[in-house]
Amino acid sequence: ASLFSAIEMAPRDPILGITEAFNADQNPAKINLGVGVYYDDNGKVPLLACVQKAEAILIEQAAPRTYLPIEGLAAYDKAVQELVFGADSAVIQERRAVTVQAIGGTGALKIGADFLQRFAPGAQVYISDPSWENHRALFESAGFVVNNYAYYDAVTHGVDFAGMLADLKAMPRGSIVLLHACCHNPTGADLSGAQWDEVIAAVGAGGLVPFLDMAYQGFGAGIAEDGAVVRRFAASGGPLLISNSFSKSFSLYGERVGALSVVAASAEEAGRLLSQLKRVVRTNYSNPPVHGGKVVATVLTTPELRQLWEEELAGMRVRIKEMRDAFVKKLQEKAPAHDFAFVRDQIGMFSYSGLSKAQVEQLRAESIYAVDTGRICVAALNSRNIDIVIDAIAKVL
Ligand code: PLP
Repeated sequence: ASLFSAIEMAPRDPILGITEAFNADQNPAKINLGVGVYYDDNGKVPLLACVQKAEAILIEQAAPRTYLPIEGLAAYDKAVQELVFGADSAVIQERRAVTVQAIGGTGALKIGADFLQRFAPGAQVYISDPSWENHRALFESAGFVVNNYAYYDAVTHGVDFAGMLADLKAMPRGSIVLLHACCHNPTGADLSGAQWDEVIAAVGAGGLVPFLDMAYQGFGAGIAEDGAVVRRFAASGGPLLISNSFSKSFSLYGERVGALSVVAASAEEAGRLLSQLKRVVRTNYSNPPVHGGKVVATVLTTPELRQLWEEELAGMRVRIKEMRDAFVKKLQEKAPAHDFAFVRDQIGMFSYSGLSKAQVEQLRAESIYAVDTGRICVAALNSRNIDIVIDAIAKVL
């Protein structure tokens, strides 16, 4: 037998499996609500005007494609830091934050996980129940034992906050707790400001290491509003890691643009952390790609383009909210015995719709694809497909 002959087939990715089934479906009216991508009202992934304008500037400059520094483009790292922490924040003023460009939000999480594995190898990792389906595998592949903390309450369609807080308080000191900064994926259920205060206090009192995953800044209440939780954690003192992604907020999925930021206790400590983060990057992929980082840095640092981005992002946010409203209203008419008002309260691209696995399978027979858990991507609804979706849901309820 050869080295490879006994290797088993790896399990299929559950979400990509839906896309495969969707692609194979011959029905021209098929609808894919299983995706994790924002579609505009025409059902297309938008190419933002701010991105097109930044690309025109970059083509004009015709810069050679040299290697970037290990930590990425300096202008990008600085712009990301100011976006994530606020330009006037103490951690930036005191040079206590370090930021490295990463290959999307996933790459940022992986750099963070590898970094933590090096310096806190015995720590337990805790993720929400449920969480983004890659969180567990990603931290396990970095060598951690990954546990859940209570999060979603299927009865209220909201957060089981008492359960979450109790779990936080029971974690061993030094545990790494992964928190969704906003627009929780997959549930759409976020914490209130007052609940965040209690979480921040529990994390501090318990000596936990918070790792904030912010993949949807600007899709909740607004760019600053969604980022507020990062600022509050940073102000509370203690170590802090933040992964952020521009896949969704710039509609730059395939360019793989994200960053990892780490908050240190002093500028001197920050220097040491950066040197170690660079070591992780260097041994994984040496240095990040140029194009996406340059596009985002150009938009964030050019006032007209920045303004345009904020408007375009607001447009995406508002369209999702309109789809939530329409979903609730139309289901109220078609299925008045069922209360879907909670969908209006959920935040971000996704909704745990409460549909069962059996109902999801029935929808699939109608060429409407959702995740088995009942997760639907609200950003895949549009003015042309929503009535078809509502009629089909009303039928399976
Ligand atoms: N974290 C969460 C919660 C996500 O939903 C996603 C993407 O779906 C990511 C991280 C990864 O982002 P990226 O596609 O930029 O790697």
